[in-house]
Order: sequence, then structure tokens, then C-alpha cells
Amino acid sequence: MSLLEIEQLRVQYQADRRMIPAVDGVDLTVGAAESVGLVGESGCGKSSLAAAVVRLVPVASGTVRFDGQPLEQLRGGALRRFRRRVQMVFQDPYGSLNPRMTIGAALEEALAVHGLGARPQRLERVAELLQCTGLDPGYAGRYPHELSGGQRQRVGIARALTLRPQLIIADEPVSALDVSVQAQILGLMSELQRSAGVAWLFIAHDLAVVKHMCSRVYVMYLGRIVESGLTTAVFRRPAHPYTEALAAAAPDIDRALAAGGAAVPLLRGEPPASGTLITGCPFHPRCPYAREICRNVPPALENLTEDRRCSCHLARERWDAADV
Ligand code: SF4
Repeated sequence: MSLLEIEQLRVQYQADRRMIPAVDGVDLTVGAAESVGLVGESGCGKSSLAAAVVRLVPVASGTVRFDGQPLEQLRGGALRRFRRRVQMVFQDPYGSLNPRMTIGAALEEALAVHGLGARPQRLERVAELLQCTGLDPGYAGRYPHELSGGQRQRVGIARALTLRPQLIIADEPVSALDVSVQAQILGLMSELQRSAGVAWLFIAHDLAVVKHMCSRVYVMYLGRIVESGLTTAVFRRPAHPYTEALAAAAPDIDRALAAGGAAVPLLRGEPPASGTLITGCPFHPRCPYAREICRNVPPALENLTEDRRCSCHLARERWDAADV
């Protein structure tokens, strides 16, 4: 049994008296202490999926189970326990930190709200959290504006760890940081996965960011999963044209060698505005391989191999042709 199991999840919102799907029939799992990536361009539904998991937005249909329990059945103490066990890290830690509260007070507050420990134990835990996220415990007395972007994101991670969660959902946690700082934060997250046994659902628009962090990846386009599989294999040999374009935008020497140096078309155009009705494959207006069938018939998400799923009419043909 997986720690997080999402089945046929639909999340929708109302616009112009129409219900627009933000997440459209997604299946996704995260195992205990596993690190899973969810990748796609802005507006593809990744954050709506995360918001539905932590019950910030309603689920239109489908099931979300945590540790085997359907979330809609959680009430009272069970719901409070769930809120402790699943935490979030956001893109902009500055926006989620109170500028008038010291870092130590912000971290201690979460412990106090949940009635965890007397003051001395809480202060001890704050020092431990700062240390395990690579910050000097002396930072407890500083205010958010006295820290760099990378240090603030370390505080964001420390705060998520406060209640010893089993799953952390990180929504674009490094996209606002410099590349060198990104690498440090990704290293910290990987280390915490090993040392604290915490599972991550890591949301990013950049496939390269999840490459070294996540063992498995789901690629999302317009609210649907278009490909999933083991991250290194997906990166090395993408099956869906959308994944192929994302991977091409994040060059990798192994993948380039595997492709025999063949040029990969880069992603063209922008995703359509939300609510735009598209017949057939949702990716066909941007797909360099689109055929007549793509404009009329939506492709199903099917198994290509034991651990690879892809939603593309040409996936099997292209996969077999490349298998030389
Ligand atoms: Fe491209 Fe057609 Fe595959 Fe869609 S189904 S990704 S349009 S080739």
C-alpha cells in the first residue's frame, strides 16, 4: 500500500458559469519515504492537485487516500493527525513567514499550536530543526528579512519538518532561487528523505530539477497525466512528445547520447488558456508529430512497459522504432 494514493482525481473551478477542470482524472501514488516528481508548465493543474491533497480546495470526484484512509472520511482527531503528517513547502517562503516574527518564534509556534512539549523542549526542537536544515541555531533570533532566499527556504523546510511529517508536498520550492542555491536545497531535501524517512511530492515546471531528487516522475499537461515512469528512464528516453520537449529544454548528456545526437523539437507556443475546449489529444495544437487521429480522438494513458505509462497515439510506434 502506498502512503498517498490518488485515484481518478478531478478538481474543477467555475468561470463564466462553466465548470473548468483543473485536474482531470489523475492517478498518482507516493510510497513511504519515496520521492516523486510532478512536472509540467505553469497552469497545468499541479498546484490544484496539491491543494486538493491538503484539502485546501474541494475534490469534485475521485479518491485521495493517505495511509489507506480516504480523506473525505477524516474528521476530528483523525483530521488533525493528517494535518500533522502532511506538510507543505511553498515557492515563496518569504510570503508564508510573518515578517514581525523571529525564525525561532515561527518554528516554535507550530509546536505550541499542536501542544507539543513545554517551552524548553520546544526551544530544543527549534535548534535541532535549524541544525538539520543547515542553519546555525543562532538564526532563531533573526527576522525573515535578515536571511537570504536560500536561508528562508531552509526555514520553510524546517517549519514543514516541525511536526515530523510523513509526507511533504513541495510546490516549486527552488524555482525562485539561484541555480547554485537550488542545488544546495535539492541536496538538503534528498538528505532529509534518507535521514528523516520523509516522503516528498515534488512539484516543478522543470524536469531537470526533479532528475536527481525523485525516483519516479509524473508529467502533467492540461490537468492530465501524459507520461509517468522512473525518472532517469523518462529523462533518458521520453515517450510523450511533451516530455520530450521538456527534457530537451533541460539538456542531459546521457539522453543526448541515447538519442544518437538526433535533434529534438523544442516546445512551441504556450498552453491554451484554461477552459479552451480542445478535441482529440489536448497536446495536438503544439505537437510536431500530430496526425489526423490526434485532432479527433483523445489518447488513453496506457502501459508502454511495466513501469512506463504514456498517453499518445504514436507512443508505441515511436517507442518500437527507437528500440534498436
Ligand atoms: Fe502528439 Fe498525437 Fe501523441 Fe498527442 S497523440 S502527443 S498530438 S502524436
